[in-house]
Amino acid sequence: MNIILLGPPGAGKGTQSAGLVERHSMRQLSTGDMLRAAVKGGTPVGLKAKAVMDRGELVSDEIVSELIDANLAAMDKGEGAIFDGYPRTAAQAEDLDRILAKHGRSLDHVIELGVDVDALVERITGRFSCAKCGALYHDTANPPSKEGVCDVCGSTEFKRRPDDNEETVRTRMDEYRAKTAPILPGYEARGIVTRVDGMAGIEEVATAIDAILA
Ligand code: ADP
Ligand code: ADP
Ligand code: ZN
Repeated sequence: MNIILLGPPGAGKGTQSAGLVERHSMRQLSTGDMLRAAVKGGTPVGLKAKAVMDRGELVSDEIVSELIDANLAAMDKGEGAIFDGYPRTAAQAEDLDRILAKHGRSLDHVIELGVDVDALVERITGRFSCAKCGALYHDTANPPSKEGVCDVCGSTEFKRRPDDNEETVRTRMDEYRAKTAPILPGYEARGIVTRVDGMAGIEEVATAIDAILA
């Protein structure tokens, strides 16, 4: 099974990917996470990507498609892939078809997480994650059950993304509207898009996604 989680920044793609990885034996392929790892590691890709990411603009199609190709190459054939934050442009959508074919895979579902634009800024400015295991939280909507302690690994250190500020979020939303939303009709024409109400609670969204995969 190969699926795309599509939605604007803050829609819940990362949160739902983590749930899917736990409930099904699937692997999350987040280009955002890959790029942040490259930035942290000071690799050539990271050095190129950092300023672009800090501005909330899109990194080049070549870079992200290359990352996806390399990560898919390292996976077992039987292991499902969740594409989180990729593709984000028409060129990337074309790249993905080509890369999937190369690895003997095909796309089963595009799950669109629908959310109110107004809610997104609050979601993103309230987002933080565990510094040790990466578990995602939100100040009000999804805090750790014991304040200051990660539910998953018990760590007491958390971090916030430098691009999760209101100004950058606006740019990221503009990028989504201009470059990512236009790839949906192509997938709709293939009959593989299902829209899920991303404004529902995290558990409810997870149940809706599981129903699509069943
Ligand atoms: P979010 O979870 O808020 O949607 P991501 O973690 O997916 O954000 O992405 C963070 C940043 O990384 C983006 O703003 C962009 O600069 C870069 N990025 C991630 N994925 C892609 C992609 N597929 N194409 C281009 N840039 C990307
Ligand atoms: P994306 O990967 O699409 O950018 P995230 O999964 O990182 O989105 O979610 C953004 C923020 O919103 C996080 O702080 C997360 O805890 C919170 N969040 C995710 N899903 C929901 C939901 N259904 N309701 C309320 N808050 C949510
Ligand atoms: Zn943790």
